[in-house]
Amino acid sequence: MTDPAAPKPYFLGPRSENQDWLRERLGAAMDDWLAWRRSLFADDPAAVTDADAAAPAFLARRAALDAALGELGAKLRGELPTYSPRYIGHMVSETALPALLGHFAALLHNPNNTSREASRVGTALEAEAIAMLAQMVGFDPAQAHGHFTSGGTVANLEAVWRARFRLDHRLALALTLAETEGRPLDPFADAQMSPAAAAALAARHGVDDLAMRSRSSVLGNPFQMAERLSEASGRPWRGPVILAPGHKHYSWIKAANVFGLGEEAFWSVPLDGEGRLSVQGLGARIEAAREQGRPVLAVVSVAGTTELGEIDPVDAVADHLDALRAEGVDIWHHVDAAYGGFFCALDPDEPLLGAAQRRALRAIGRAETVTIDPHKLGYAPYACGALLTRDAASDTVSAFVAPYVERAELGEAPWTRTLEGSRAATGAAATWLTGRALGFGPAGMGAVLSATLDSCRAIRSAVTAAIPEIRPLDPTDTNIFCFSVAAQGEALSVANARTAAVHARVAASPGFSMSRTVLGREACGELIDRHVAAWGGRRDADRLVLVRCVVMNPFWAEPAVRARLLPELTAELAAIVAATEDQAAA
Ligand SMILES: *Cc1c(COP(=O)(O)O)cnc(C)c1O
Repeated sequence: MTDPAAPKPYFLGPRSENQDWLRERLGAAMDDWLAWRRSLFADDPAAVTDADAAAPAFLARRAALDAALGELGAKLRGELPTYSPRYIGHMVSETALPALLGHFAALLHNPNNTSREASRVGTALEAEAIAMLAQMVGFDPAQAHGHFTSGGTVANLEAVWRARFRLDHRLALALTLAETEGRPLDPFADAQMSPAAAAALAARHGVDDLAMRSRSSVLGNPFQMAERLSEASGRPWRGPVILAPGHKHYSWIKAANVFGLGEEAFWSVPLDGEGRLSVQGLGARIEAAREQGRPVLAVVSVAGTTELGEIDPVDAVADHLDALRAEGVDIWHHVDAAYGGFFCALDPDEPLLGAAQRRALRAIGRAETVTIDPHKLGYAPYACGALLTRDAASDTVSAFVAPYVERAELGEAPWTRTLEGSRAATGAAATWLTGRALGFGPAGMGAVLSATLDSCRAIRSAVTAAIPEIRPLDPTDTNIFCFSVAAQGEALSVANARTAAVHARVAASPGFSMSRTVLGREACGELIDRHVAAWGGRRDADRLVLVRCVVMNPFWAEPAVRARLLPELTAELAAIVAATEDQAAA
């Protein structure tokens, strides 16, 4: 970690160490807002008078509200202590103070970022915060667009929406030329035309958006358009495919559902022996799509997989797509960096990342669209995700409607480009203040995340050194560490049962929280085989059960915290592993 003080002013601290400062700053944000309200329309009459506030009915209702608020507070004390370093379960941890304060300040004002009319400042903050994130992932912030979403799921849907717009637009052009001029239609090649090639073709034949409108599967009847595409191409139209690695997040299945593609349209790209997207496998899938005459709606690579925190070779995927582009096949690349996008804040030479992972992170800016979740490694409160697009063209969802022209002075309203309608400005303000105060570079967020990489390795080494049955899953690309519990030579089915039992006991004990995940052989076969070989086990199961530790908490880097919690964690796990052994023997 380059700056040992980095997390301390920016997080409350597990014992509320920074509480005086936080209380004061929250109070100041509140005071500012109260004063702002008092200062406007100062001649308007007061609607709540001193007499009202002294009336018994008023006081009784306020007492009831107080009681209910007390009840809510008591209920919330039963909530998971996700702020604590002891919580290494899911992708949530202590929120950063700038994010909390930014969220709170915007919450008081409550702007609706659906339009500039409903949010004068909130929408401006959003544009600035998006530019900060865009710069971090390697986009040109002057060209990049994007917006905040409720999370990575919606951001991924937004990316599909944009890729589908481009594909539909290309096919509508090809169909227009086929039906009006008899030009042969090749669904794969025509849908994958580059923007320049499509523009040139349209100009050469004098085709404008209006002519294509009646041949859009999105605007028209998709079943009828399928018949016409089949007719024009001379083969049955089967629709596009999306190529995503076997470890993709469940949100991609939702996207296939929502966009009516059918889950069949989701083609899994095989993983290599270390569980990352295989570029060779990707190439084979693209060729299969070409042979079947099915365009590729998008290729998805993942920076920071949900299960293992692994980083796909985004650079090699981009190289492969560039090579295809040189042949005139232009395929949309989306990077799902919901979890790992903030690792772009690390020093480019961060020694705790592998060279391949550093190269992959540097290549994210070569994609068309990127999903990033500030509510994960940006330490922002929920709900805060974002979609980033490389340029205005990649942000386009429709060329046909432009309702904003009636109010040109407001510019294009955000709602014309968002799946969601009314949207909070809280996530934008949280990200903006974090970017301003902590910064999304190596000295700020990068230092915080570098410390989590180190903490993850420290936890992994301590527990594997102390407990021989703990079998760490390799590789550990980032700050997620997974393990099985297995004796030497134990069959996978037995190890799975034991691992699940260990997780259940950890979950039942108050000391530490870890999560559990299951990998399937269809996606991760090679990875599972290598893992089981490490303890010489028999591969008699199709699934691998793992205990998963997501080490996001910045205070694991604090020497006093580590010195106390690491031995405690190791001792607790050792006791639990021994207890499950006794149970297995009994
Ligand atoms: C978390 C995650 C998502 C979904 O994000 P939400 O914010 O939970 O909707 C998508 N992709 C990946 C890789 C993720 O880790």
